[in-house]
Amino acid sequence: MDIEQFRKAGYDAIDRICDHFYSLREKPVVAQVNPGYLRHLIPDSPPQKGQEWTSIVDDYQKLIVPGLTHWQHPSFFAYFPTACSFEGILGDLLSSSTSNPGFNWFASPACTELEAVVMDWAAKLFGLHKIFWNVNEVGGGVIQTTASDSALTAVVVARTRYVNEHPGVTLESLIIYVTTQTHSFGKKAAMILGLRVRALDVDETVTTDNTGLTGDGLIAAVKEDHARGLHPFVLIATVGTTSSGAIDQVADLGAAIKKNYPSVWLHVDAAWAGVTLACPEYREIAQLPGINESADSLCINFHKWGLTNFDASALWVRERKQLIDALDITPEFLRTKEGDTGTVIDYRNWHLSLGRRFRSLKLWFVLRSFGVEGFQANIRKCIALNNSFAEQIRASPIFELVTSPSFALTVFRLLPRSAAAAGELDSVNALNREFYSGLQTRSSLVLTQTLIGEVFCIRFAVGSSRTEQSDIEDAWGVIKETGESTLRKMGYEQ
Ligand SMILES: *Cc1c(COP(=O)(O)O)cnc(C)c1O
Repeated sequence: MDIEQFRKAGYDAIDRICDHFYSLREKPVVAQVNPGYLRHLIPDSPPQKGQEWTSIVDDYQKLIVPGLTHWQHPSFFAYFPTACSFEGILGDLLSSSTSNPGFNWFASPACTELEAVVMDWAAKLFGLHKIFWNVNEVGGGVIQTTASDSALTAVVVARTRYVNEHPGVTLESLIIYVTTQTHSFGKKAAMILGLRVRALDVDETVTTDNTGLTGDGLIAAVKEDHARGLHPFVLIATVGTTSSGAIDQVADLGAAIKKNYPSVWLHVDAAWAGVTLACPEYREIAQLPGINESADSLCINFHKWGLTNFDASALWVRERKQLIDALDITPEFLRTKEGDTGTVIDYRNWHLSLGRRFRSLKLWFVLRSFGVEGFQANIRKCIALNNSFAEQIRASPIFELVTSPSFALTVFRLLPRSAAAAGELDSVNALNREFYSGLQTRSSLVLTQTLIGEVFCIRFAVGSSRTEQSDIEDAWGVIKETGESTLRKMGYEQ
């Protein structure tokens, strides 16, 4: 493809994207294909001779698009949202065209410098203490691929700091703390690093008021582990857990750590809910005071509910020196005069890989185009939509809220009064599994399930910027109807 052919194909691709968004609402949310559907449709080896572009892009439309689940669909209520804005798409397009590994300042000064500046914009958007701002050169912010990478990085850094402060402690005795509601990445980090992990039980507090771990819970666990000769060295606390949006009490945890175990690293995973910090009215509940006071590191994904296309996971650290101590290896071929004099950030020392995508560009576009107010408006709108859904559940005689709604997430289950009276967990779980199977046959919306303790429940997460009140009403109609038919089928009175 030459430049003029690219120009033509590029315009055509944008047309296809626009047509896709115009027709999105009419499409089934979930891909209507069976496992292995694509194998039969694509040759099993690459073509010997290059092919015409039109046939390639037509095959994209014919073969790939039907196999896509539409995360940007207004009736996508599963998992958590994945952001997609036109500004984000254009940022990625332009950043693709520079195809630049940006691992140090010299590799492309603009990539490093823009990232340092926009991460400071983001820090201010969220009200983070200036210790986290790049400009002050104490802490700082870096864009990682995912929250999982951010957490793994934090755990690696925490381990280095702990081992340096406690020479003689064996790796076998180190232990990562998560809770029963922490994202599975905590256990994955332990698998990757060959370390122990302990999940502190918060299921009960989550089902009573959707709060998670407190300082007392933490201290009790550390005492037990110290008595067993183990060394907890990092706690991954969550603001807005994946299952239910539960919120660990960061200020309380931070104070307990500072007072009793100052070498334990506090990583705050606010991958989904962290963006609510953009709105002053949510800062208290989203734990900003605790984060500012005591988090050693904090992760907020822009690519979930932050209008920025996948991937863009923001990670801040209180002390950049800790990061660099753990991750800086500078072979001769990576030395530069700017790096040697320490006048620039070399982001290769702030994450696990060497090369990195130029992700700050789309974040810059998004933050400029929406402004703080536009960013806040999106958060507030989704929360209001979720509240209207939660109201329906609360008022219904056949459903119950399992946890209190958290930001834009509602966790609920089918619970007719007769079942509540019987109080049988197994049978209510069986009923809800049947209900969930019923929901899965509906192509007009998608939700996902979770377990809290032993309770099987359904999650309803609002976050697509295209979702409107009428979509919530349609979803409620489908959910109610499916609930009622499940009850009839399972022989419950209504
Ligand atoms: C989605 C999510 C994650 C994982 O995010 P990735 O960026 O896909 O790794 C971690 N923690 C929480 C709370 C999440 O919601």
